[in-house]
Amino acid sequence: MSDDRYVREVDDDTLRREKARARALRQTPWWRRRIASGRCHYCQRDVGAKALTLDHVVPLVRGGRSIRANLVAACKECNHKKQSLLAWEWQAYLDTFDRSADS
Ligand SMILES: [Zn+2]
Repeated sequence: MSDDRYVREVDDDTLRREKARARALRQTPWWRRRIASGRCHYCQRDVGAKALTLDHVVPLVRGGRSIRANLVAACKECNHKKQSLLAWEWQAYLDTFDRSADS
């Protein structure tokens, strides 16, 4: 997991479908509840509901799905970092936060 290369594991149709599903989920009361706290899932900072973005814990291109268990509210900074960093770099970034208070 730490040294995996960026391999596309899904076809375009699946990707399109899962993206549409994520957009739809963003319109649901479930998602509004999810962002109501205004807190980023990763860094636990309170950035406000409006600043939170929908993030796939396992990215779609890696075979992740748009299901509730795979979707978290992330601040723009974390979302951007997650997309730009390698898997192990992202993990190192996460380790800089105290995750014991995760709710
Ligand atoms: Zn964050």
